[in-house]
Amino acid sequence: MFLASIKNTWLFNIEPTTPFYSPSLTKEGEVIGEKMELTHIEHIGIAVKNLEESIKFYESVLGLKCYLIEEVKDQKARTAFFKIGQTKIELLASTEPDGPIAKFIEKKGEGIHHIAYATNNLNEALREAESNGIQLIDKEPRKGAENFQIAFLHPKSTNGVLIELCELKKIKARLAKKMAGKPNPSQREELF
Ligand code: ZN
Repeated sequence: MFLASIKNTWLFNIEPTTPFYSPSLTKEGEVIGEKMELTHIEHIGIAVKNLEESIKFYESVLGLKCYLIEEVKDQKARTAFFKIGQTKIELLASTEPDGPIAKFIEKKGEGIHHIAYATNNLNEALREAESNGIQLIDKEPRKGAENFQIAFLHPKSTNGVLIELCELKKIKARLAKKMAGKPNPSQREELF
């Protein structure tokens, strides 16, 4: 019911001549609504069958360090995080046979599951995506791993790539507080 109503809204918002894969563009190639202001790729989500085995590969072969393992009940998944520069790798393994990650692996095998872009205002980014006729999986932000607010855009509207938008505001605020006593601005900049 929920999906059906989104689909209908989305269909009514586009002209019949608009290409199926790109509802945000008119036939002249112009953007219909506002553009989103994304700051960087926050992480790349990778679906794996066995979290522990995959962590071994990332640590022993690639030399990255897993700094967090967290269960995200909402997504029926356990996640493991690695930092590489400003970006992270998020491994996701299903905790339930019927979870979205299990279903993804069943259909496509292990591999890249989603790309997460950081934004300073998730609510605004969602409204902008909607104004461009992009099909939203989450109309409102919800809680993701690491206390981020997240929302997904439907791959049907995004060239087959599941896109996660996530807001960094809370993390930034926490880091700013942590660094409040440190006067050297370059030290502070390093954190962002
Ligand atoms: Zn993610």
